[in-house]
Amino acid sequence: MSSGYPITSLSSFREPSAIRSLQPLLAIPQMISLGGGAPNPETFPIASISLNLTSGETLELSPAELAVLQQYTTSTGLPALSKHLRDLQSLVHNDTTSKHIVTNGSQDGLAKAFEMLLDPAEDSLLVESPTYSGSLSFLQPMGIPLVPLSTDGLGLVPASLRSTLENWSTTHSNKKKPRCLYTIPTGSNPSGGTLPLSRKQEIYEIATEHNVLILEDDPYYYMNFDTLGKERAASFLSIDKTHAESSGGSRRVLRFDSFSKIISAGLRVGWVTGPSSLIDRLELHTQSTLLHPSGLSQAVVAKLFDGWGGAAGYLEHADSVAAFYMARRDAFVAAATAELGDRVSFSVPTAGMFVWMDLRGIDDANELIVRKAVDRKVLLVPGVSFTPGGGTSGWVRASYSTATEVEMKEACRRLAELLDEENGG
Ligand code: PMP
Repeated sequence: MSSGYPITSLSSFREPSAIRSLQPLLAIPQMISLGGGAPNPETFPIASISLNLTSGETLELSPAELAVLQQYTTSTGLPALSKHLRDLQSLVHNDTTSKHIVTNGSQDGLAKAFEMLLDPAEDSLLVESPTYSGSLSFLQPMGIPLVPLSTDGLGLVPASLRSTLENWSTTHSNKKKPRCLYTIPTGSNPSGGTLPLSRKQEIYEIATEHNVLILEDDPYYYMNFDTLGKERAASFLSIDKTHAESSGGSRRVLRFDSFSKIISAGLRVGWVTGPSSLIDRLELHTQSTLLHPSGLSQAVVAKLFDGWGGAAGYLEHADSVAAFYMARRDAFVAAATAELGDRVSFSVPTAGMFVWMDLRGIDDANELIVRKAVDRKVLLVPGVSFTPGGGTSGWVRASYSTATEVEMKEACRRLAELLDEENGG
């Protein structure tokens, strides 16, 4: 499928930027540049930056690092960070052959990829139902027809993907078969579901049979409680790498990673990994939109990796973050069980920061959650926000990320009271 990736006409019209193309030439010895529009570094006002970590350690950005981060850099990412990302993808996903590009968080990578792959006039996208509202907010105005697939407490149900693709020509007679599947495999936002390996393998096989590209949106990968202290779960990226090597087939996974949940959301650093022809196309998009993500943000992340001793040290940090969220998950589940009892049902998430709750006796939770719960000072997100195509939903998303244990208990108590009132109790 390497030359057969589903590229939109908008993306295919993008040409390399004339000025960005000059950048690698600057590295040629004795080159005198009269060509670029880079500002003169002598005018840059920042002389030093030191990062005082919560661990008590201090990391200094050297004059050489400062010179790089204050200047324009490559569209695929700051070299100092790219090196760590290559090591990380190799260590975690055993993948040294894919390319990557740094993005302004994964939201940026997703929006660019959707635009690259989906032509509203002819394509449709296979999505989990429920799925991430941030992706829906990009896809729906684009007018991309969404094909919802069933999920349960363990994420996407493979049989739903199989039957949708196998029956496509009878159910959608004159519409092109979808070429892309969007999935959130770990601690899904909003469902909290995490795909077990056997499901991932089955989904990958179905995707191969039907020539589907998998868009693996995995910002909660490092917040997997079940793999803490054990071997990390195989990603679609690593399954793809192994499969392509043994079968000689082409690659079919574009993976979206993010440092938002593990390092900082405000730094806006994510990255996309996948086949070079697709990453090169995303690079053209970056060249024509933001030129490159913030050098300062990337340098801060690269420096943190240096301080941690590289990718292996990042994994230790990530595990400490996962342990933090696991304790919060336990606290929320205890609070919800005690206060809400059988007024709600939910699967206990094994990753991420969300609990997806079905409200007993409620078919449409929207009004209840957006107005009545807010009046009682409980903030939740109604299920309809995550439903492809909208409609009604009796589900809500609760996050255990920031509330204290006392607040979790109180919020569940307020919701229980409201549900009793609503159900005439
Ligand atoms: N995908 C999913 C499933 C998410 O939950 C989020 C963040 N809420 C994102 C993408 C975007 O993350 P980032 O901060 O990296 O842009």
